Amino acid sequence: IEEKFDAIVVGAGMGGNAAALTMAERGLKVLQLERGEYSGSKNVQGAILYADMLEKLIPDFREDAPLERHLVEQRFWIMDERSHTGLHYRSDDFNEEKPNRYTIIRAQFDKWFSQKVREAGATVLCETTVTELLQDSHGRVVGVRTDRDGGEIHADVVVLAEGVNGVLGTGAGIRELPKSDKVALAVKEMHFLSRETIDARFNLKGDEGVVIEAVGTISRGMTGMGFIYSNKECISLGIGCLVADFQRTGETPYGLLEGFKRHPSVAPLIEGSEVKEYSAHLIPEGGYKAIPQLCGEGWVVVGDAAQLNNAIHREGSNLAMTSGRIAAEAICLIKSRNDPMTAKNLSLYKKMLNDSFVIKDLKKYKDMPAVLHTHSQNFFLTYPQLFSKAMQDYVRVDGTPKLEKEKLMLNSFIKARSWSGLFSDALRIARAWR
Ligand code: FAD
Repeated sequence: IEEKFDAIVVGAGMGGNAAALTMAERGLKVLQLERGEYSGSKNVQGAILYADMLEKLIPDFREDAPLERHLVEQRFWIMDERSHTGLHYRSDDFNEEKPNRYTIIRAQFDKWFSQKVREAGATVLCETTVTELLQDSHGRVVGVRTDRDGGEIHADVVVLAEGVNGVLGTGAGIRELPKSDKVALAVKEMHFLSRETIDARFNLKGDEGVVIEAVGTISRGMTGMGFIYSNKECISLGIGCLVADFQRTGETPYGLLEGFKRHPSVAPLIEGSEVKEYSAHLIPEGGYKAIPQLCGEGWVVVGDAAQLNNAIHREGSNLAMTSGRIAAEAICLIKSRNDPMTAKNLSLYKKMLNDSFVIKDLKKYKDMPAVLHTHSQNFFLTYPQLFSKAMQDYVRVDGTPKLEKEKLMLNSFIKARSWSGLFSDALRIARAWR
């Protein structure tokens, strides 16, 4: 391509699409490059879509977006080998005119999102891998090289939306690949069942949906969690743990997934299903302290590539969309002033992002990843087992006086963790939660 663009966006996931759409709608000449056959072909998500962040980009998205179910119920399970203790929240308030959260299937959703980017006027090229960032003699990013013939393309600014394991920034020496204790590996299967079966098993009607998130012995003492999301005619089920923990324990992702599926609380939900899809993907989980440099001379980085993922609340796509939109807004503002895309000018993106929920939320939980990882054995194995045992003792009626039962329950916690251990664990979590 001979012509020069105002902006090149690398990647057509949530972050890249948000950035390309915002800039194209504001009249910038945008080229978006995606290595996959189509937008979404390489992307994996649970997947919960957070409407608020998409509404800011496409206010009327509900009219034609491929949405699965809107969520009316959130279940959080603490599991041991044979039981789960649940915290469930269900409300008819979520049956609102404009629901707040939906399940989606990324391959379909990203295709639709990409069409909106094209309609806004951006040039979108799929099956095109960006192999290198072009830098001038001062190290300024001036464009990209692709795997296509003669694939050198120039632009004022490059938006890196290449996802968690994007190698461009690292190749150019402008950022590092996340370390194994800052990234989780998740595996996911799609279990197909009839709509009626899903409705009956999850107590749903119409387009209502349920999310189940689970921690406990399913991750075998590693920092991680399992999830079950209801779609219209299939169930997304998966589990992910820190890569460093897989390395340390020698456990395998598929081994964990099999264990999760066989759990007596999970097996009846997927019984008789047909598995048509299996995928694996990394999730950035280093939090605030793992965020790399967000911009430099002629470039910005958004979404998973910038480690913008809130693992505590299982939010990623909304942070990607928001950072993509904000980066694009900053670029448009700089462009409208006819200013160059220098690191100093592009730091406007960082400033705007700092003022948003993205950085505020990640900052709030800045110590949580390290606390959970360092004490994973306690939080993901010992406590779930203690909770389950305590709950069983509590609900089982066997003639033991209640006061005696309560003493036994308390003693089981003290025996496993000691008073000082219990106190320290509570303090650690409380401090990291602030
Ligand atoms: P991606 O969506 O990964 O997009 C990056 C794109 O860049 C890809 O299309 C890729 O092909 C392309 N690309 C990479 N390198 C190049 C290159 N050199 N040249 C051209 N193209 C390139 N988030 C939620 O909000 N809700 C959930 O329920 C949820 N569940 C999840 C479950 C799982 C199992 C996983 C793995 C993640 C989940 N997430 C969830 C996180 C969410 O998927 C990510 O935060 C989000 O996809 C990040 O968007 P992104 O645009 O930054 O990256």
